[in-house]
Amino acid sequence: MTQADFFDSDYRELPYWWEAYEPIGAELTELPAEAPVAIIGAGYAGLATALELSRLNIKAVVIEAQDPGYGASTRSGGLVGGTASIKKNLISPQPGPDRAVRMMSDARDGLAMLEQLMEEEQITCGWHKSGRFTGAWSRRDYDRMSGDAEQLNRLCGANAHVVPRCRQREEIGSDFYHGGLVTGEAGHLHPALYFKGLLEACIRRGVTICARAAVTSLTTNGAGWLVKTVRGNLRARDVVVATNGYTGDVTPQFKRRVVPLRAYIIATQTLPEDLAHSLSPKNRSFADTKRVVTFFRMSSDKRRLIFGSRVKWRDITPTQMAPLLYRLMIERYPQLADTKITHAWTGNVALTLDEQPHIGKQDGLHYALGCNGSGVAMMTYLGTQLARKIAGSANYACAFDTGSFPAHPLYRGRTRWFLPVIGNYLRFRDWLDRVRA
Ligand SMILES: Cc1cc2nc3c(=O)[nH]c(=O)nc-3n(C[C@H](O)[C@H](O)[C@H](O)COP(=O)(O)OP(=O)(O)OC[C@H]3O[C@@H](n4cnc5c(N)ncnc54)[C@H](O)[C@@H]3O)c2cc1C
Repeated sequence: MTQADFFDSDYRELPYWWEAYEPIGAELTELPAEAPVAIIGAGYAGLATALELSRLNIKAVVIEAQDPGYGASTRSGGLVGGTASIKKNLISPQPGPDRAVRMMSDARDGLAMLEQLMEEEQITCGWHKSGRFTGAWSRRDYDRMSGDAEQLNRLCGANAHVVPRCRQREEIGSDFYHGGLVTGEAGHLHPALYFKGLLEACIRRGVTICARAAVTSLTTNGAGWLVKTVRGNLRARDVVVATNGYTGDVTPQFKRRVVPLRAYIIATQTLPEDLAHSLSPKNRSFADTKRVVTFFRMSSDKRRLIFGSRVKWRDITPTQMAPLLYRLMIERYPQLADTKITHAWTGNVALTLDEQPHIGKQDGLHYALGCNGSGVAMMTYLGTQLARKIAGSANYACAFDTGSFPAHPLYRGRTRWFLPVIGNYLRFRDWLDRVRA
């Protein structure tokens, strides 16, 4: 197939998820003159903060530059894990053992909280708790997995076990990996429908959500904030910054702490039932131990493959990225060689310098930022924790509330010259690991 051949005639440069729920055309609710709490950003973090505040009887106004959900929250792969935040750091030092244990505990609580929220708010969003298979990119990675499984089970009840290469086909219709690790406490959902459910829960509880009201400036008199937007101004006692990979010049102190990075995904056409089933016989979600990770899963109806990664470290369009993702997909699933692509899309994730998310307060502003590519459960959880902290009802300090949010003197939030350098380094290390295997 030539490059052009694998685009379906109905190909769209849009998230596949938007076929079910497209975050456009929100009602333009007028901005109130004042509110106890103003939340900037209507993604999972902002909405989860608002929802929990409303449960604690604190009124919040969520202010969104675009339409609610326009950011990463309706664009993700929808993979959910209770151990997501303890992946190995690539560049920065690993957290110490005590902190790692607390982080694992919070990650597990995040998954439990997500499940409880979906149940309580009756959110139907294709949640399949069908486990994750993490493919070993090299034999060495596989050799390390027994230790990982033991640690995950001991510290966060992850229900993990190792699968040798000779039994890999029971998990994935591919011989590409050197075996892998199954984590039972994981699953996948439809990210846009989950977002829609969260949004509806907020609306039911009276949260005011103001779309297309980009915040343009924040000033404080010490007692409160004046929040200026393109659709009017609001005074608030507290302000929450939940802008993640879309953090801009309004909050320069956070812009220099989160590095936006595009992630890309393609979706295949609807596949014949047998073929679709053979790709993921247990409906697992998939990731691998590569430094430049790939992540994939079946769609909620189990008929399409949703396949994502980051192959280029400079920003290109999803349509330009699609052939590169397609190649990675065919490496893993040669049986998809005649399959067409119907959708390709991108969205911003937010990297932090210690590769961990953060909540806290800086310069008088509350923040929940830095998903590092894993935020469906985590940003929901952190938003909720932040709300409890604002309300003074938190009964324990969250592991991601460290009181510090690292910055680097050479990064002011402008040019990301170092990304291709880091990307090439990571790719080289991946290549080396594979050839040594
Ligand atoms: C392609 C892709 C794949 C991913 N896959 C997964 C996955 O499989 N599993 C997983 O757990 N996570 C995944 N993630 C990460 C996950 O989607 C994010 O962690 C999560 O959605 C972040 O939610 P958030 O609310 O913090 O930010 P967002 O949803 O990005 O929301 C931030 C919002 O802030 C708004 N904003 C910015 N500036 C202003 C301003 N001045 N005024 C008003 N509003 C403003 C933006 O418009 C945006 O809507 C993926 C992300 C991407 C992009």
